[in-house]
Amino acid sequence: MPRIALLPGDGIGPEVTEAAVTVLKALDETEGLGLTFERLPFGGAAVDATGEPFPEVTRKTVLEADAVLLGAIGGPKWDDLPREKRPETGLLALRKTLGLYANLRPARVVPGLEHLSPLRPEIARGVDLLIVRELTGGIYFGEPRGMSEAEAWNTMRYSRREVERVAEVAFQAAEKRRGRLVSVDKANVLEVGELWRKSVAEVARRHPTVEVNYQYVDAMAMHLVRRPGAFDVVLTGNLFGDILSDLASVLPGSLGLLPSASLGERTPVFEPVHGSAPDIAGKGVANPAAAILSAGMLLTYALDLPALGRRIERAVEAALREAPTADLGGSASTEAFTRAVLEHL
Ligand code: ATP
Repeated sequence: MPRIALLPGDGIGPEVTEAAVTVLKALDETEGLGLTFERLPFGGAAVDATGEPFPEVTRKTVLEADAVLLGAIGGPKWDDLPREKRPETGLLALRKTLGLYANLRPARVVPGLEHLSPLRPEIARGVDLLIVRELTGGIYFGEPRGMSEAEAWNTMRYSRREVERVAEVAFQAAEKRRGRLVSVDKANVLEVGELWRKSVAEVARRHPTVEVNYQYVDAMAMHLVRRPGAFDVVLTGNLFGDILSDLASVLPGSLGLLPSASLGERTPVFEPVHGSAPDIAGKGVANPAAAILSAGMLLTYALDLPALGRRIERAVEAALREAPTADLGGSASTEAFTRAVLEHL
């Protein structure tokens, strides 16, 4: 009986999470997955209810759950609170509690919706890649760091273990996808890049069916714009992944289309890339595609049901062509879009 902890959060978070749960329940009915759901306070909603953005009941339950499905957090209402009470602090605490060291962000151009991409349709067509970014190491966390009047310094540092564990996640993802992986580093200039490459090669030996290539990050930035359709899984460190995943995120053409997964030492978390969009909250017009696709990733990566994950992906894509929401130039409501997904499921 897989236990799913729901953290709907703020703004459009509850609306899009509800849509995702509707889809999971429909699938559960026909497939008999035995899913159970528990709704928990998190983010600004939790500050209002309990005074804390990540209350103890939520902490305890996510640690016991098989997966977390998160909506979105934050909004102007909570922006002026002291740092420890802010919704964003709750998100950092959640990530830390669960040891989430691998961030997975797919960027897929929906067949038939190539016109939404900023790239020419013939280049956008067929784009279907997954960026796996190391999330808890590298230059954002390396010591020593500091600043004086005259200079400032940060340290890029990775241990073999840190690289190997995120590489393992990326190789397993490649095995569930098209079996190709590109590892991105700067091994021609940085020692960290050399170690990165050696460590990835070590993990590659345990995954002989995955075809591996290596790219320097500067070349990769070019390739992602010129021929993004050539890639399957792209594995990289924290800093390069931050930049490349933002670059890749514009390829599908709307923020409302991007799901994500964060995997680590404990319960994995699935959430849309977009924020709480306070401007459209409560109006019933938010695009739930990213949240529903995040639920699809939950099936693939938390419950190891990639065929069902793909089924959700295909149903969402059919609904996007048939009943697009306002952010895609259509007029379907959140509810109408969700109904269209259910019909295609
Ligand atoms: P945050 O700082 O919370 O991450 P952000 O700067 O990424 O937020 P979002 O809240 O994601 O911003 O939204 C940016 C704008 O994009 C919103 O104001 C909204 O109009 C639009 N938007 C985001 N997500 C969706 C969605 N799922 N459906 C429709 N429109 C959306």
